[in-house]
Amino acid sequence: MATQVCPCGYHGDSKQECLCSVFKVQKYLSRVSGPLLDRIDIHVEVPRLKFTEMNNETPAESSAAVKERVNQARAIQQQRFQKEKNIYCNAHMQPKHLRKYCQLTVESQELLKNAINKLNLSARAYDRILKVARTISDLENQPQIQSNHIAEALQYRSLDKNLFA
Ligand SMILES: [Zn+2]
Repeated sequence: MATQVCPCGYHGDSKQECLCSVFKVQKYLSRVSGPLLDRIDIHVEVPRLKFTEMNNETPAESSAAVKERVNQARAIQQQRFQKEKNIYCNAHMQPKHLRKYCQLTVESQELLKNAINKLNLSARAYDRILKVARTISDLENQPQIQSNHIAEALQYRSLDKNLFA
């Protein structure tokens, strides 16, 4: 799914100023309901690219290398859930699995707790963040979810954040 975040479409744009009032932006965004956002794993903002970024000749990571990493993460997940019924990847986890497979260090727990309070996130958003953090750690082949994985997963909840308030 894709959406603008304000009626004029320039909110957060580096070149063109958004002239929408805070009230207008909030009203516009409130049409996307919280429960709907809660069901989407990852929200990201996609800002306009600068010409130098489009013209960037630094080679990107190859698709083959990315595929290899994804396959490894999928293999880790298959291994993790081999004794569970009808679960093959992190996205399928239910709350009881989150408690079992997404245990956090004290540091990560503290980070997540603060973010939840500060950003006023729902219980559903909390579950999504844990699952995404689990996947990020799998992609790095790390058995334990680290606080930087939680921090990264939090960044993928941009529409939950009160940044438009
Ligand atoms: Zn605007």
